This record gives sequence, structure tokens and C-alpha cells, in this order.
Amino acid sequence: MSSNEEPQPKDFQGKVIIFTAPSGGGKTTIVRHLLNSYQDDLDFSVSATSRSIRPGEKNGKDYYFLTKEEFENKIQDGAFLEWEEVYQDLFYGTLKSEVERIWSLKKHIIFDVDVKGAQSIKSHFGDQCLAIFIKPPSLNILVNRLKSRGTEDEKSLRKRITRVKHEMTYEHLFDKILVNDILEVAQKEAALMVEEFIFKEYKFFEDDGNTNNEGY
Ligand code: ADP
Ligand code: 5GP
Repeated sequence: MSSNEEPQPKDFQGKVIIFTAPSGGGKTTIVRHLLNSYQDDLDFSVSATSRSIRPGEKNGKDYYFLTKEEFENKIQDGAFLEWEEVYQDLFYGTLKSEVERIWSLKKHIIFDVDVKGAQSIKSHFGDQCLAIFIKPPSLNILVNRLKSRGTEDEKSLRKRITRVKHEMTYEHLFDKILVNDILEVAQKEAALMVEEFIFKEYKFFEDDGNTNNEGY
């Protein structure tokens, strides 16, 4: 390398981290924490949804809020990497354009999706992807957290609670299980999982000649 050449960053290899859980499991809380902690390395894949916007949510930040017709048009246009009718008449989907947007920024992608969407994304990205299932300490605690979040009316709460037991049967299908009991502990564990997946591999490649990859 001549003296006036800047050292080049290593080739960027975009990775994917999925957080999945039953509704109320803590995905949003933990994902927000990680995005704050790793702003330079991670970005959130903003999904599209046909559900209505909650107080405090922002269109284009939390979700792209679409009408059912707009959502169906996007399905027809092939805009989704995956989509699910997570609750009756409520559609959620991952936009292919989000993957391109985030990787073009040379950041890794964080997804917050339901258990089926998580499986689809995992099988699409394979080894580029780490899928983490967030597990509540108990069903009762999950239901209480969902109620105290205060975002759902009685009908929506019932729909979500009915689906929880089914969602819990998916836990063994993912790479890691993260128990969300004490929030600070769960956030630290989530950060360790992410760091190990994203940064250790770089370290391994940078350790020229050193093939000790214990713990990797
Ligand atoms: P999800 O995005 O999976 O539906 P949220 O992140 O919205 O779940 O969490 C559901 C509710 O539980 C929120 O009100 C959140 O503040 C609360 N919560 C999340 N994790 C914990 C925890 N470890 N202890 C207590 N409350 C929690
Ligand atoms: P909420 O209405 O609580 O924001 O989300 C309901 C469920 O839809 C959650 O399990 C959430 O992770 C999931 N979800 C959000 N975005 C997507 C998506 O793009 N695809 C799929 N399959 N599920 C999603």
C-alpha cells in the first residue's frame, strides 16, 4: 500500500438478527435498547402493517401503516420478503426494500416479527441470520405485562392471549432462547448474543494465523 492510500474497511457482510416472541414477550423493549446501544452497527427493519397506529407510534419509524388495500397491492407487487395475517384481518410484512436500505448503509438488520415470519426470514438468510426467541418467565406474567402495556382493547387483548399458547410452541425452532424476567438482565444477555454473532466473526478473521476460535 502506498503511503497516501487510506486503509480500507473490511468488506461488509450484512447480517440479520431476528427477535421473535409471543405478543407482550418484550421484543419492542429489547430491540429498542439494542438499537440505542449499537446505533452505528444496527438498524431496524420497519415492517408494513394494516393494524391501526397506537398512541406514541410514528409512521415510517415503528411501522409503515397501510390500509388493507394498500397492503394487498404490495403483496401483488411482490414487495414483501414475507408477510403473515398474524391476527384475523391484521397483516404484517417485511419489505424487501428495508433489507436493501439497511445493508446499503453498511449496517446489520434487526427484525421484530412473529414466530412464522421469523421462520421464513431464517430460512431465507440461513447462516447470515441469528434468530432469538424471547421467552416470558410464565404465561401469567406475560398476560399481566400485555394488560399493563395498555395498548389493546378487550377484543384485541383476547385475540393476543389466545394466540400466545400456540406461539410458545415455536421456541425450540430458533437459534437462541432469551428469558425475559429481569429486564436489565435480559437486555445484557441480548447484547451479548448480538455482539457474539456480529463482532466475534470479524475478530476471528482479523486474528491472522490464530485459529483459536474457542467460544465462537
Ligand atoms: P412485544 O413487543 O413483544 O409485544 P413489549 O416490548 O411491548 O412486547 O413488552 C410488553 C410490555 O411488557 C411493555 O409494557 C414492556 O414495557 C413490558 N416489559 C417488557 N419486558 C419486561 C420485563 N422484563 N419486566 C417488566 N416489564 C417488561
Ligand atoms: P404488534 O401489533 O404488537 O406491533 O405486532 C404483532 C405481531 O406482529 C408481533 O408478533 C410482531 O413481532 C409481528 N410483526 C411485526 N412486523 C412483522 C412482519 O413484518 N412480519 C411478521 N410476520 N410479523 C410481524
